Amino acid sequence: MKLILLGAPGAGKGTQAEKIVDKYGIPAISTGNILRAAVKDGTEMGLKAKQYMDAGQLVPDEVVIGIIKDRLKEDDCKNGFILDGFPRTIPQAQALEDANVDIDKVVDIEVSDEAITKRMSGRRVCAKCANSYHLEYKKPQTDGVCDACGGELIQRKDDAPETVQARLAEYHEMTEPLKDFYKGLGKLVIVEGQEEVADTTALVFAALED
Ligand code: ADP
Ligand code: ZN
Repeated sequence: MKLILLGAPGAGKGTQAEKIVDKYGIPAISTGNILRAAVKDGTEMGLKAKQYMDAGQLVPDEVVIGIIKDRLKEDDCKNGFILDGFPRTIPQAQALEDANVDIDKVVDIEVSDEAITKRMSGRRVCAKCANSYHLEYKKPQTDGVCDACGGELIQRKDDAPETVQARLAEYHEMTEPLKDFYKGLGKLVIVEGQEEVADTTALVFAALED
Protein backbone atom coordinates (compact mmCIF):
# COMPACT_ATOMS: atom_id res chain seq x y z
CA MET A 1 0.00 0.00 0.00
CA LYS A 2 1.38 3.38 -1.04
CA LEU A 3 -0.20 6.23 0.83
CA ILE A 4 0.00 9.97 1.20
CA LEU A 5 -1.24 11.79 4.28
CA LEU A 6 -2.37 15.31 3.53
CA GLY A 7 -3.46 17.99 5.95
CA ALA A 8 -2.49 21.27 7.50
CA PRO A 9 0.57 21.46 9.74
CA GLY A 10 -0.55 20.17 13.10
CA ALA A 11 -3.53 18.25 11.71
CA GLY A 12 -2.08 15.10 13.24
CA LYS A 13 -0.55 13.47 10.18
CA GLY A 14 2.46 12.21 12.10
CA THR A 15 0.36 10.65 14.83
CA GLN A 16 -1.89 8.87 12.34
CA ALA A 17 1.14 7.77 10.31
CA GLU A 18 2.44 5.92 13.39
CA LYS A 19 -0.87 4.05 13.72
CA ILE A 20 -0.71 2.99 10.08
CA VAL A 21 2.90 1.83 10.57
CA ASP A 22 1.80 -0.37 13.48
CA LYS A 23 -1.18 -1.85 11.67
CA TYR A 24 0.18 -2.33 8.15
CA GLY A 25 3.90 -2.73 8.80
CA ILE A 26 4.93 -0.21 6.17
CA PRO A 27 7.38 2.60 6.93
CA ALA A 28 6.31 6.21 7.45
CA ILE A 29 8.45 8.73 5.67
CA SER A 30 8.32 12.23 7.11
CA THR A 31 10.17 14.92 5.22
CA GLY A 32 9.91 17.09 8.36
CA ASN A 33 11.74 14.46 10.43
CA ILE A 34 14.37 13.86 7.75
CA LEU A 35 14.99 17.61 7.46
CA ARG A 36 15.19 18.07 11.23
CA ALA A 37 17.72 15.22 11.44
CA ALA A 38 19.80 16.91 8.74
CA VAL A 39 19.66 20.21 10.65
CA LYS A 40 20.79 18.44 13.82
CA ASP A 41 23.64 16.67 12.02
CA GLY A 42 24.69 20.00 10.51
CA THR A 43 24.88 18.59 6.97
CA GLU A 44 25.01 20.94 4.01
CA MET A 45 21.38 20.19 3.24
CA GLY A 46 20.46 20.80 6.87
CA LEU A 47 22.13 24.19 6.93
CA LYS A 48 20.23 25.19 3.81
CA ALA A 49 16.90 23.90 5.11
CA LYS A 50 17.13 25.42 8.58
CA GLN A 51 16.54 29.04 7.59
CA TYR A 52 13.31 28.13 5.80
CA MET A 53 12.03 25.85 8.55
CA ASP A 54 12.64 28.32 11.36
CA ALA A 55 10.68 30.94 9.42
CA GLY A 56 7.78 28.56 8.83
CA GLN A 57 8.45 28.51 5.09
CA LEU A 58 8.64 25.56 2.76
CA VAL A 59 12.05 24.19 1.92
CA PRO A 60 12.69 24.46 -1.86
CA ASP A 61 11.08 21.75 -3.97
CA GLU A 62 14.32 20.40 -5.43
CA VAL A 63 15.70 19.71 -1.94
CA VAL A 64 12.70 17.71 -0.67
CA ILE A 65 12.12 15.97 -4.00
CA GLY A 66 15.74 14.76 -3.87
CA ILE A 67 15.26 13.53 -0.31
CA ILE A 68 12.12 11.56 -1.19
CA LYS A 69 13.53 10.03 -4.35
CA ASP A 70 16.53 8.70 -2.42
CA ARG A 71 14.41 7.45 0.44
CA LEU A 72 11.92 5.58 -1.76
CA LYS A 73 14.80 3.61 -3.31
CA GLU A 74 15.53 1.97 0.04
CA ASP A 75 14.61 -1.66 0.62
CA ASP A 76 11.95 -1.15 3.26
CA CYS A 77 9.77 0.77 0.79
CA LYS A 78 9.28 -2.22 -1.50
CA ASN A 79 5.93 -3.24 -0.04
CA GLY A 80 4.61 0.26 0.37
CA PHE A 81 5.00 3.34 2.53
CA ILE A 82 3.19 6.33 3.98
CA LEU A 83 4.33 9.78 3.01
CA ASP A 84 3.81 12.26 5.84
CA GLY A 85 4.47 15.87 4.88
CA PHE A 86 5.24 15.18 1.24
CA PRO A 87 4.08 16.32 -1.28
CA ARG A 88 3.33 19.83 -0.11
CA THR A 89 3.29 21.63 -3.46
CA ILE A 90 1.98 20.82 -6.94
CA PRO A 91 5.53 20.46 -8.36
CA GLN A 92 6.31 17.93 -5.60
CA ALA A 93 3.18 15.92 -6.45
CA GLN A 94 4.05 16.15 -10.13
CA ALA A 95 7.54 14.81 -9.38
CA LEU A 96 5.99 11.68 -7.86
CA GLU A 97 3.82 11.22 -10.94
CA ASP A 98 6.80 11.75 -13.25
CA ALA A 99 8.77 9.13 -11.30
CA ASN A 100 5.84 6.70 -11.78
CA VAL A 101 5.29 6.31 -8.06
CA ASP A 102 1.90 4.66 -8.04
CA ILE A 103 0.04 6.04 -5.04
CA ASP A 104 -3.04 4.04 -3.96
CA LYS A 105 -4.72 6.58 -1.73
CA VAL A 106 -4.35 10.10 -0.44
CA VAL A 107 -5.91 10.59 2.97
CA ASP A 108 -6.63 14.22 3.77
CA ILE A 109 -7.13 14.97 7.46
CA GLU A 110 -9.27 18.08 7.83
CA VAL A 111 -8.86 20.25 10.93
CA SER A 112 -9.87 23.91 11.31
CA ASP A 113 -7.20 26.61 11.60
CA GLU A 114 -8.57 27.49 15.01
CA ALA A 115 -8.21 23.98 16.39
CA ILE A 116 -4.73 23.71 14.89
CA THR A 117 -3.55 26.94 16.48
CA LYS A 118 -4.70 25.63 19.84
CA ARG A 119 -3.04 22.26 19.37
CA MET A 120 0.30 23.56 18.15
CA SER A 121 0.80 25.80 21.14
CA GLY A 122 0.79 22.70 23.36
CA ARG A 123 2.92 20.47 21.18
CA ARG A 124 6.27 19.30 22.55
CA VAL A 125 8.84 17.10 20.86
CA CYS A 126 11.70 15.01 22.15
CA ALA A 127 15.04 16.70 21.52
CA LYS A 128 16.66 13.28 21.14
CA CYS A 129 14.29 10.97 19.22
CA ALA A 130 11.69 13.42 17.80
CA ASN A 131 8.72 11.64 19.40
CA SER A 132 5.85 14.05 19.73
CA TYR A 133 3.70 14.89 22.77
CA HIS A 134 1.06 17.41 23.82
CA LEU A 135 0.61 19.27 27.10
CA GLU A 136 -3.13 18.46 27.05
CA TYR A 137 -3.85 15.65 24.62
CA LYS A 138 -0.81 13.37 24.76
CA LYS A 139 1.01 13.88 28.02
CA PRO A 140 4.27 12.08 28.71
CA GLN A 141 4.39 9.96 31.87
CA THR A 142 6.78 12.46 33.46
CA ASP A 143 6.46 16.17 32.60
CA GLY A 144 9.12 17.29 30.16
CA VAL A 145 10.62 13.82 29.66
CA CYS A 146 10.24 11.51 26.63
CA ASP A 147 8.55 8.17 27.41
CA ALA A 148 10.50 6.44 24.65
CA CYS A 149 14.07 7.54 25.35
CA GLY A 150 14.16 9.83 28.39
CA GLY A 151 15.15 12.82 26.25
CA GLU A 152 14.12 16.37 27.04
CA LEU A 153 10.80 17.62 25.61
CA ILE A 154 11.01 21.00 23.92
CA GLN A 155 8.83 23.28 21.80
CA ARG A 156 9.81 23.31 18.17
CA LYS A 157 10.85 26.76 16.99
CA ASP A 158 8.31 26.52 14.19
CA ASP A 159 5.51 25.88 16.72
CA ALA A 160 5.84 29.42 18.07
CA PRO A 161 2.49 31.23 17.53
CA GLU A 162 3.59 33.69 14.82
CA THR A 163 5.32 30.91 12.90
CA VAL A 164 2.20 28.75 13.13
CA GLN A 165 0.19 31.49 11.40
CA ALA A 166 2.79 31.67 8.61
CA ARG A 167 2.69 27.89 8.18
CA LEU A 168 -1.11 27.86 7.98
CA ALA A 169 -1.10 30.61 5.35
CA GLU A 170 1.49 28.70 3.37
CA TYR A 171 -0.57 25.52 3.70
CA HIS A 172 -3.68 27.17 2.26
CA GLU A 173 -1.76 28.72 -0.59
CA MET A 174 0.67 25.98 -1.59
CA THR A 175 -0.58 22.64 -0.24
CA GLU A 176 -4.36 22.78 -0.25
CA PRO A 177 -4.48 22.76 -4.09
CA LEU A 178 -3.20 19.17 -3.83
CA LYS A 179 -6.68 18.12 -2.76
CA ASP A 180 -8.01 18.96 -6.22
CA PHE A 181 -4.95 17.44 -7.85
CA TYR A 182 -5.56 14.06 -6.21
CA LYS A 183 -9.33 14.32 -6.49
CA GLY A 184 -8.77 14.57 -10.22
CA LEU A 185 -6.77 11.34 -10.08
CA GLY A 186 -9.58 9.66 -8.11
CA LYS A 187 -7.31 9.08 -5.11
CA LEU A 188 -8.53 11.56 -2.51
CA VAL A 189 -10.28 10.44 0.68
CA ILE A 190 -11.30 13.06 3.23
CA VAL A 191 -11.30 12.34 6.96
CA GLU A 192 -12.61 14.88 9.46
CA GLY A 193 -10.05 15.12 12.27
CA GLN A 194 -11.68 14.34 15.63
CA GLU A 195 -10.86 15.67 19.05
CA GLU A 196 -9.70 12.23 20.21
CA VAL A 197 -6.75 10.75 18.34
CA ALA A 198 -8.28 7.24 18.46
CA ASP A 199 -11.49 8.46 16.82
CA THR A 200 -9.54 9.95 13.92
CA THR A 201 -7.55 6.71 13.62
CA ALA A 202 -10.77 4.71 13.33
CA LEU A 203 -11.89 6.96 10.46
CA VAL A 204 -8.48 6.71 8.77
CA PHE A 205 -8.49 2.89 8.99
CA ALA A 206 -12.04 2.80 7.62
CA ALA A 207 -10.95 4.99 4.71
CA LEU A 208 -8.01 2.68 3.95
CA GLU A 209 -10.12 -0.46 3.98
CA ASP A 210 -12.78 1.02 1.78
P1 ADP B 1 4.19 19.91 10.24
O1 ADP B 1 3.53 18.78 9.50
O2 ADP B 1 3.89 19.90 11.67
O3 ADP B 1 4.08 21.21 9.55
P2 ADP B 1 6.74 18.92 9.39
O4 ADP B 1 7.52 18.27 10.41
O5 ADP B 1 6.05 18.10 8.36
O6 ADP B 1 5.71 19.82 10.17
O7 ADP B 1 7.63 20.01 8.60
C1 ADP B 1 8.39 20.97 9.26
C2 ADP B 1 9.01 21.92 8.26
O8 ADP B 1 9.85 21.22 7.36
C3 ADP B 1 8.00 22.65 7.36
O9 ADP B 1 7.45 23.78 7.95
C4 ADP B 1 8.88 22.96 6.13
O10 ADP B 1 9.71 24.07 6.38
C5 ADP B 1 9.75 21.75 6.04
N1 ADP B 1 9.16 20.71 5.15
C6 ADP B 1 8.72 19.47 5.51
N2 ADP B 1 8.23 18.81 4.46
C7 ADP B 1 8.34 19.65 3.39
C8 ADP B 1 8.00 19.56 2.01
N3 ADP B 1 7.41 18.47 1.49
N4 ADP B 1 8.27 20.63 1.22
C9 ADP B 1 8.84 21.74 1.69
N5 ADP B 1 9.18 21.89 2.98
C10 ADP B 1 8.95 20.87 3.82
ZN1 ZN C 1 12.71 10.59 22.89
